Amino acid sequence: MPIQLPPISRRQFLGASLAALAGGAFIGDLRADGKPVDPTRVALFSDTHLAADAKAISRQVCMLEHFEAARASMLAMPALPGAMLINGDLALNAGLPGDYVTITNGLKPIREAGIPVHLLLGNHDDRDNFWKALPPEDANKAVEGKHLSILKSKHADLILLDSLEFVNKTPGLIGDVQRAWLAKALDARADRPCVVVVHHNPTDPANSKVAGIKDTDELMKVLLPRKQVKALVFGHTHKWVKTSIEGMHLVNLPPVAYPFKATDPSGWVDGIFTDSGAKLTLRCVGPRNPADGEVFDLKWRT
Ligand SMILES: [Zn+2]
Repeated sequence: MPIQLPPISRRQFLGASLAALAGGAFIGDLRADGKPVDPTRVALFSDTHLAADAKAISRQVCMLEHFEAARASMLAMPALPGAMLINGDLALNAGLPGDYVTITNGLKPIREAGIPVHLLLGNHDDRDNFWKALPPEDANKAVEGKHLSILKSKHADLILLDSLEFVNKTPGLIGDVQRAWLAKALDARADRPCVVVVHHNPTDPANSKVAGIKDTDELMKVLLPRKQVKALVFGHTHKWVKTSIEGMHLVNLPPVAYPFKATDPSGWVDGIFTDSGAKLTLRCVGPRNPADGEVFDLKWRT
C-alpha cells in the first residue's frame, strides 16, 4: 500500500496505530492538539519533487520552499484536514535515498499536527529507496510489487493505486493484477461513493502531451461501468484541470513543485467530500497566480 504515516503524538498513536491503519485507514474526527479536525476534508498534494539537497532548484522553483509554503497554508486552516496525501513524484528525479530524507523531515510538522499522511508512488520514485526511508510495517501484499490502499472517509472511500512501472521513465502502468484487485475492491463497496487516486494521467491518444497510464482503456473498462466511481484523481502532468467522461470526474492535481508551463499554477488542493460530491479548492504557492482559490464543485453521477 502507499505508505501511511500516523500522526506523531502519543494520543494520536493510541487511536491510530499503524496496525489499525493496515488494510484500510479510516478518517475520524480526531482532534489534533488545540485544533479541530474536519473528517470530511482531505488535503491533496502531488508532485512535490523534493531532493536530497533541500535548496535544489528546478525550473526556477525551490521545491522545498513550495512544499513548506503548501504545508504552512494547510496547517493554518481553521479546521485541519482528516488526512493528507501526496499523489506521487515525491522525489526529484530518480528517487534517491537522500530525497526521502528531505521528504520525511518535511512531513514531520504535519504528523506532529495530528494529520495522518498517505504517500503514493510516481515515476520519479524508487520503491526500494522509499521503503528503506520509511519501513512499511503495514505492507499490503494484496498485489505483489504494488502498493495499494483504501482511505475511508466519512462520505467517500479513496482508493489509492500504484502506477509506477519504471523509475525515471515517463509512462505508468496499472497492470492486470492491480486492475483485478481494483474491480474487486469497487464491487465490495457498490453503495459507497468511491474516488480512485493514482499518479499517472489517463491518456487520450488524440489529446495527450504527457505519456500517462499505458493501460488506460482497460482501466476505464473497470471504472466507467461501476457508477460508484465518482472521480479519478491524478497528477503527473503538472496541471490543474478538470474534465469528465460519462459523468465520472477527471481531476488533474497541480504540482506542489514546478509547473511545466510557467503560467500554470503550483499548489495543493483542499478537498471536502460530501454524500453527493466534492468541493476542491486550489491553494496556490509560489508566484501569484490568477487560479488561486479556484473551486471545482463536483456533483457525483448516479
Ligand atoms: Zn511530477
